Amino acid sequence: MASEKMLQALNEQIQKEFSSSYIYMAMEAWFAEKNLDGFSNYFRIQAMEEKDHAYKIFDYVNKLGGKVTLEAIPKPKSDYSNVEEVVEEALAHEEFITASINSLMDMAVNEKDHATVSFLNWFIDEQMEEEENAQKVLNYVKMLGGDSRGLFMIDMELGKRKYTPPAASAE
Ligand code: MG
Repeated sequence: MASEKMLQALNEQIQKEFSSSYIYMAMEAWFAEKNLDGFSNYFRIQAMEEKDHAYKIFDYVNKLGGKVTLEAIPKPKSDYSNVEEVVEEALAHEEFITASINSLMDMAVNEKDHATVSFLNWFIDEQMEEEENAQKVLNYVKMLGGDSRGLFMIDMELGKRKYTPPAASAE
């Protein structure tokens, strides 16, 4: 059984994942308004994945016999000056989430909570991917996003992203 402190920290992470989902929905809305449907698609999928992350922790807390407590989700920013600013903030947000997952892992290691260490390993790997993806989009925008033709190309590319539902748990 995880400690009360650990359960509290996991609950806080559920809030952060839902909050991430809401931030990406706001980004999706900003792009939809600009008719950049590929970017909009990319951020919708990002938002859906964040909700999956929240549920992954939600299910884990329940599995431990802990209590899931949902906290308020802050209102996300809705106005951006340009595409690069949105993508930069998406990357910065992933870096913030990585730091949060890392401190959860530190806590689990310190508490010798091996089950939670094992559970969090998935999130450590996932965050590496999240940062890599956000960095890739930012690179595209920096390289090509200066004119409408380049932006159109990136938009086409991001429009190809498909949502993959989380794999059915073997547990
Ligand atoms: Mg996440």
